[in-house]
Amino acid sequence: MSDRVKSVEVFSLTLPRETPYLGAARPGEEPNAKGYLVRAGNRTVYPVFDRSVLVRIETEGGVAGWGETYGLVAPGAVAAIVNDLLADFTVGRDPGDPEAIYDDLYDLMRVRGYTGGFYVDALAAIDIALWDIAGRLKGASVAELLGGTVRNTIPAYLSGLPEASLGKRTELARQWQDRGFGAFKFATPVADDGPVAEIETLRGALGPDARIAADMHWTHSAEEAIDLIRLMTPHGLWFAEAPVRTEDIAALETVCRFADAPIAVGEEWRTHWDLLQRIGRCEIAIVQPEMGHTGITNFTRIARLAGQHGLEVIPHATVGAGIFLAASLQASAALGPVTAHEFQHSIFEPNRRLVKGCMDCAEGFYTPPGGPGLGVEPSEEAIRLMQPI
Ligand code: MG
Repeated sequence: MSDRVKSVEVFSLTLPRETPYLGAARPGEEPNAKGYLVRAGNRTVYPVFDRSVLVRIETEGGVAGWGETYGLVAPGAVAAIVNDLLADFTVGRDPGDPEAIYDDLYDLMRVRGYTGGFYVDALAAIDIALWDIAGRLKGASVAELLGGTVRNTIPAYLSGLPEASLGKRTELARQWQDRGFGAFKFATPVADDGPVAEIETLRGALGPDARIAADMHWTHSAEEAIDLIRLMTPHGLWFAEAPVRTEDIAALETVCRFADAPIAVGEEWRTHWDLLQRIGRCEIAIVQPEMGHTGITNFTRIARLAGQHGLEVIPHATVGAGIFLAASLQASAALGPVTAHEFQHSIFEPNRRLVKGCMDCAEGFYTPPGGPGLGVEPSEEAIRLMQPI
C-alpha cells in the first residue's frame, strides 16, 4: 500500500561561527547590519554566521524525511517558494518516486524562466526529503535506492584554509596532513601574497605527493586565467576550479583548450542542463555538483552524464546543517564517477553535532552514513535551533 505526503514544513537554522567563512574579515570587508560581508577578492556576499533552510516532509503513515538547501542570504526566498507553491503540489503525492515529483515541480515554472536559482534550491530541499522518505519506506539507504554502494569510504580533500596569513594557512594544512589528509585546496581571492606564492609555499611544506588545487572563484578573464594557471602548474596543480564567470561559457571553452591543468567547474549549477550546455564544447576534467542546489535527483543526473563523457565527479561541500552533506555522501557512495569529495573542516566539525547518525571524515576519508533514507536526522539541538519560516 503506498503512502502519501501529508505535510511540508520549512525552517531556518542559524548558528554563530567563531571565524567567518574564508577567514576573518579583511579591511574594507566589515559586515553590514544583517551580518553580511562582501569579500573584496571575489565580490561575493557571505554571512558571518552559518545558516541553512531545512524542509521536513511527513507522510500520512507518519514517516518523516528531511531536506536542506542554501539559506546563506534571503532564506525567506526559498521558504516562500516552498510554502506558496511547491508544498501544495507535493502534498498527496506518492513519495516512493521522488524523480517524478521533481520533474513535475520543475516543469511548473519553466516557461517563466525559473530553471535555476532560488526556485531550484527550494526544489532541491523537497527532493532530498522525498528521497529520505522513499528510503525509510523501503528500509533502504539512499545509496541503495541509487543502485547500491560502490565504495564504503570516499576520499576527502581539505578545502578552505581560513587563516589570516600564508604562514598560518600553511601551518593549518600541515596539521591536517599530520591527521592523514593528502589533498588540499586553497582559494585564490584570499591568497594575500598571490596565488603563485600560495601554491609554492604549500608545496614546499606539504611535499611532492600532496595534491593541491586552486579555487579561482570565477574572477578572471580567459586570458588572465590561462596565464595564472601557467604560473601555478610548475608547482603541481591538481586542478584549477571556477577560472571564469559561470555565465561565460565561451571563456570556459578557451580556458579548457589552452590551460595546462585540469579544469573543475559546477558547484553553482542546479541541473544536468548546466553540464549539457558545456559538454562537447568545453574540455572540462572535473564536475563539482552541490547537493544543496541539485537535490539527489539532479546530482545523480549530473554524475551519470559526467560519467558517460569520461569526467570525474568531485562534489562540492558548503555551509550547512549536515542534511545535504549526508545526501551528497549517500549519492557519492553509489555513483561510479565520484573520485573524491570536498571537506570543509571549518563547517563539518562544529556543525557535526546538528545531526544524529553515523557520518565522519577522518584520515583523509569520509565515511558516509548508512540507512534507512539519508541515515541521519537533525539532532535535538538542531531542532531547538530551528525557526519555522
Ligand atoms: Mg569552490
